Amino acid sequence: MTAYDPDNIFAKILRGEIPNHTVYEDDRTLAFLDIMPIVDGHALVIPRKPARNIFDVEPEELANLVKVAQKISLAACKAFDADGHTLRLHSEASGGQEVPHIHFHILPMRTGIPPRPRAMADHGVLAQHAKKIRDLLG
Ligand code: AMP
Repeated sequence: MTAYDPDNIFAKILRGEIPNHTVYEDDRTLAFLDIMPIVDGHALVIPRKPARNIFDVEPEELANLVKVAQKISLAACKAFDADGHTLRLHSEASGGQEVPHIHFHILPMRTGIPPRPRAMADHGVLAQHAKKIRDLLG
């Protein structure tokens, strides 16, 4: 199994070395907006504890991550008027993973609005979108 790389970009976000648009955090998890969102409200939720993906995450950590992902998904769907949702977990390059720190993609989906191609988002827009979700999470 490939070892966890402590220099991956999400580890840097967790250490506060790179800024992010946080939507939720607690002692075990952090959720923030994807910088190349394919839908409005596209968020990522990660555990603070290092793990690469499905292959090495502790079952209990994964269970907690799913629990938090549901909470954020519900708020994101409400914030962006979504009537559908996709929860995605990529593992290793062959599974579509680019950043080797386990993360769920939270994708609020709206009827008639397909995902758009990935492109760097405007930081002002991301800040507004993050606030919409944070406000619903209290
Ligand atoms: P994956 O293919 O599942 O590993 O997805 C990684 C995601 O992380 C992609 O959707 C990227 O747009 C996103 N991403 C990469 N760097 C950052 C960053 N600094 N802040 C927020 N999202 C990021």
